[in-house]
Amino acid sequence: MDLTLSPDEEAFRDELRTWLEDNHPGEEPKGDEEEAFAFRLEWQKKLHAAGWAGVSWPKEYGGRGATPIEQAIFSAEMVRANTPAPANILGLAMGGPTVIAHGTEEQKERFVEPILSGEEIWCQGFSEPESGSDLASLKTKAVKDNGEWVVTGQKVWTTFAHHAKWCMLVARTDTEVPKHKGLTYFLMDMQQDAVQVRPLVQITGQPEFNELFIEEARIPDENVIGGVGNGWMVAITTLMHERSGIAFGSMAQVKRDLASLIEVARDRGLDDDPVTRQQLAQLYIESEVLRINAYRGLTQIIKTGQPGPEGSLSKWHWSDINQSLTETAMDIRGPEAPVVDGEWSYRFLRARANSIEGGTTEILKNIVAERVLGLPKLR
Ligand SMILES: Cc1cc2nc3c(=O)[nH]c(=O)nc-3n(C[C@H](O)[C@H](O)[C@H](O)COP(=O)(O)OP(=O)(O)OC[C@H]3O[C@@H](n4cnc5c(N)ncnc54)[C@H](O)[C@@H]3O)c2cc1C
Repeated sequence: MDLTLSPDEEAFRDELRTWLEDNHPGEEPKGDEEEAFAFRLEWQKKLHAAGWAGVSWPKEYGGRGATPIEQAIFSAEMVRANTPAPANILGLAMGGPTVIAHGTEEQKERFVEPILSGEEIWCQGFSEPESGSDLASLKTKAVKDNGEWVVTGQKVWTTFAHHAKWCMLVARTDTEVPKHKGLTYFLMDMQQDAVQVRPLVQITGQPEFNELFIEEARIPDENVIGGVGNGWMVAITTLMHERSGIAFGSMAQVKRDLASLIEVARDRGLDDDPVTRQQLAQLYIESEVLRINAYRGLTQIIKTGQPGPEGSLSKWHWSDINQSLTETAMDIRGPEAPVVDGEWSYRFLRARANSIEGGTTEILKNIVAERVLGLPKLR
């Protein structure tokens, strides 16, 4: 593809840069999770008011109708300006696009706008204690009762469930058919007594995700997305958006962090050290490969209108690079890193989750082998 921006794309980038210069909210408060969340919510409201939330969503659903290239520019510029993430990140990246792709007009009317404004926060209830990579084996059960669904089961690692109004919930509605065919995708109201949210604290000390205990929660029939028994297909849409959305922002983040790490190495007089130079050069090469593959994924979206399995390649590669980058940062900072340099230590610890969240690296390698390279399946 031609990587030069067209005059319209340059204008889009310049408009965004100018807006960010005037509206950047400053640095996110550190430490208190509630305070940080409130800060991100304010930021999302500001983005929404200016038409910068859901940039790639169709205009009829409150988005900006941006092209895939403009969306990529948007993600990269947000990282370049070091902005905080919006509060409703899962709703914006995955929930909205899934409802737009598979929802009825009534569902789009009801759910989409409060995602953009941040009025209703979303979480993703897919993983269970015995079902992560093999998602289709999940056991949370939904049974029809008088026009409603009654749901019982347990979910785990549910990011932002403690802030959420809606959960993208996949549950088993038919036990008589092969496992992929017996699933249904629901939007479950989190604000009911039948749903208990218990925080799980990560190695970073942050309670970013939770366990969900669901005991006869009620979901109205109109909150089924994509039809009963079609949950697997709808869930794949959510996952494709989760992985493809990562490419450009993560590429820009790696480039930004690497530039800052090179400065740290210079400050410490390590820019002449052959081992450090080798590590930094390798990271630079990897970041270029990440960049080119991000364009490859973009080309696929432009051709087909949908994110393809190439997003899995970018997600796997990004988690590898981010882990190497934060390990190199620890080497460069030396023994003082864990005590003096809170930001790099946090990133180093948080990066451990990168190769698990949104699909483990092993699973992504299987997807790339089978669906990008066309290799035969083992099973
Ligand atoms: C920070 C973070 C946030 C998360 N947020 C959410 C969320 O909001 N909602 C949600 O639903 N989930 C969330 N998850 C869960 C995440 O999706 C799962 O952890 C992930 O899918 C792996 O599932 P598992 O933990 O059950 O591991 P398992 O599936 O049990 O895997 C264990 C190990 O076996 C390997 N393995 C499994 N199957 C295969 C195979 N076929 N071939 C090769 N290797 C294999 C895996 O790669 C892994 O190394 C989050 C996870 C993290 C770390």
